[in-house]
Amino acid sequence: MGERMSDINACPRRRVPERTCVACRRKDSKGSLLRLVRTATGEILIDKAGKQNGRGAYLCPFRNCWESAVKGTRLEYVLKGKIELESKKRLLEYGQTLPVRYG
Ligand SMILES: [Zn+2]
Repeated sequence: MGERMSDINACPRRRVPERTCVACRRKDSKGSLLRLVRTATGEILIDKAGKQNGRGAYLCPFRNCWESAVKGTRLEYVLKGKIELESKKRLLEYGQTLPVRYG
């Protein structure tokens, strides 16, 4: 009772920072997921270096995740703001360059 031994975030062996894909909720190391950032001007950037300031969201480098995140409300929810149609189009176009994950 009251023990937090199973708390995955507290596991001391894991030093790699983990992030969760906003579309499929899979966890992966920060470097394996792609970061999206909503800048102060409301623009959505694909932050390849992971250094951009702003509210960020992580997505797997797979088309499936990009499509479900952009077409649904998930991304807007996580980034706390409306995403313009132009930005969505750009994100979907980028998603088209990514491989599809099967299974
Ligand atoms: Zn994903």
